[in-house]
Amino acid sequence: MDPVLPAQRRPREKAAATTGAGRCLPSKMSSGRRPPPARVRVAVRLRPFVDRTEGARDTPCVRGLNSCSLEIANWRNQQETLKYQFDAFYGEGSSQQDIYGGSVQPILRHLLEGQNASVLAYGPTGAGKTHTMLGSPEQPGVIPRALMDLLQLTREEGAEGRPWALSVTMSYLEIYQEKVLDLLEPASGDLVIREDCRGNILIPGLTQKPITSFAEFERHFLPASRNRTVGATRLNQRSSRSHAVLLVKVDQRERFAPFRQREGKLYLIDLAGSEDNRRTGNKGLRLKESGAINTSLFVLGKVVDALNQGFPRVPYRDSKLTRLLQDSLGGSAHSILIANIAPERRFYLDTVTALNFAARSKEVINRPFTNESLQAPVLGPVKLSQKELLGPPEAKRAREPEEEEAETPDPPEAPASGSQSLSLLQKLSNMDPAVLERLVNLDRLLGSQGSKGASLLNTPKRERMVLMKTVEEKDLEIKRLKMKQKELETKVLAQEAVDPKDKENISPKMLRPLSCRTTTETEPLKKAVVIPLQLLQKQAASPHTEVHILKKRGRKRKLEHQDASKPEEKLEEVWEPEISPELLALGRQKILELLNKGSARDLRSLQRIGQKKAQLIVGWRELHGPFSQVEDLERVEGISGKQMESFLKANILSLAAGQRSCPS
Ligand code: ADP
Ligand code: MG
Repeated sequence: MDPVLPAQRRPREKAAATTGAGRCLPSKMSSGRRPPPARVRVAVRLRPFVDRTEGARDTPCVRGLNSCSLEIANWRNQQETLKYQFDAFYGEGSSQQDIYGGSVQPILRHLLEGQNASVLAYGPTGAGKTHTMLGSPEQPGVIPRALMDLLQLTREEGAEGRPWALSVTMSYLEIYQEKVLDLLEPASGDLVIREDCRGNILIPGLTQKPITSFAEFERHFLPASRNRTVGATRLNQRSSRSHAVLLVKVDQRERFAPFRQREGKLYLIDLAGSEDNRRTGNKGLRLKESGAINTSLFVLGKVVDALNQGFPRVPYRDSKLTRLLQDSLGGSAHSILIANIAPERRFYLDTVTALNFAARSKEVINRPFTNESLQAPVLGPVKLSQKELLGPPEAKRAREPEEEEAETPDPPEAPASGSQSLSLLQKLSNMDPAVLERLVNLDRLLGSQGSKGASLLNTPKRERMVLMKTVEEKDLEIKRLKMKQKELETKVLAQEAVDPKDKENISPKMLRPLSCRTTTETEPLKKAVVIPLQLLQKQAASPHTEVHILKKRGRKRKLEHQDASKPEEKLEEVWEPEISPELLALGRQKILELLNKGSARDLRSLQRIGQKKAQLIVGWRELHGPFSQVEDLERVEGISGKQMESFLKANILSLAAGQRSCPS
């Protein structure tokens, strides 16, 4: 071992120990430079198949790639593997010496420099933690090897004539359900963890045994381990549910002035199984144990992560385990985490969990692991999507339609898009124009608010233009229909104006559009008759039209005066129909024909002619021969001149227009 210079043998700085952020200088560095933040090195050890039962020795679910990386089948996709990168990877053929020599032995010398170190075996139960840490007489693990070497080192370094006198002590404790138990003195009960003024972590009352030889170590360690083994038998595999912590302290005292003192601590830890205890359906005590294990391992993961990522805060205090390791993880300490994994497929999920815990980096590799490596027993509880169940070609086929739909924007000229927009247009053109207009307005509004590509109708620009045109056309049609309605209303008014008293003769069909009107019978005649110009022109052009132009006329009328002896004549403004002479002549001729040739029944079809008047007309005709003119009707007994006038007014126009057909 390299001789250590006095200048480098400075006591550890408190700040570094308390924050664990790596502020102390490592022994090999000059005092003028800051050390890089200490990180936890991670090694993975894959144990060989140990299950001797038939069928268990089939394809492994994990395999090494080189001395630093491995790959494992990806349960999400059979065609992929997950590749993990570590500081070191030890395959199933690796020996105990490979692990010890490669990852543990190099850190031991730092203990003699007054620095701390820790070795932690992590992984699911049955993956080889105890084998790695303790091993067997035939294959001794990290603990016996480290103790042997350390004792050898201290003997050499502390030999007579050397500047430093060295002594080694050991403590052995167990953290079970967040209690610190002394395995060398089991009666001690739960011990407290404290921090001294220099930031060193200590456990007052914890047994420390001086050891000068490996035999002495074994003398203390083996019965304590049996304590744990006895406990495990009694408490149902308690050993896999507690953290076993062996603490080896190396004390150094300078033999000459200035008589400095140094202490280096080595933690060798066989952690509780990292398997997910929720999957085992634990209840009661087991569940409580699981909670404690999960908590401390979870916090350990966070601490390792914080140290390796260089986070300012490291959550040491969140569990007993990490609190105990506060001055031995991070800072100037040298730490190695050995993740133990098993090749059997029944370990698959726990292996993935352990690897994710330990991984510094991970990447997905596009290649199948082995066809047999992913089978139902492992994947049983996991719900796989259709994509995951299908291989890549099938999966691609399965997802192609939706992906293509999502990824390819619809070109407006594409046939599919074209037919879609056509059907959309057809649907829209059948819509109520008002609704359509609202939709388009809303769409326009959304577009103006910048919702790109998410317009209400989600139609391309070209399509929207067509829609706008449709709406405009509908608008024009509505206006045209409104005009026509007005014209019809005017026609009806004009019809009424011919004879207000004959209003009942207007067919209900004609009255309907005016039903909402509130005007009186006479007032509209004076005020509401506004005939459009084109209608006037039409009327002028066609003498056979049934609609008549009204003319304002002054007419003298006798008015009642207070003095009845002096009746007063006054000019009164009245509206009268002005009917074209041709139309009048036509109407008169038709009435005359009906009067001379029509039966009583035919005559009854005329306005103002009832059963009695019809019989009177027929009787008069039989006596006096045919009527020579329509005014002869006045000569019929029972029909006055006034009635004759009224009769003519009521019938002359309708007959002229052919609405009342003459009897054949
Ligand atoms: P853990 O402590 O993680 O629960 P163990 O160390 O008890 O697991 O190992 C489980 C079994 O596997 C033991 O029988 C052990 O001897 C065996 N084993 C573990 N690792 C190895 C290895 N590298 N080579 C051979 N056998 C191993
Ligand atoms: Mg074990």
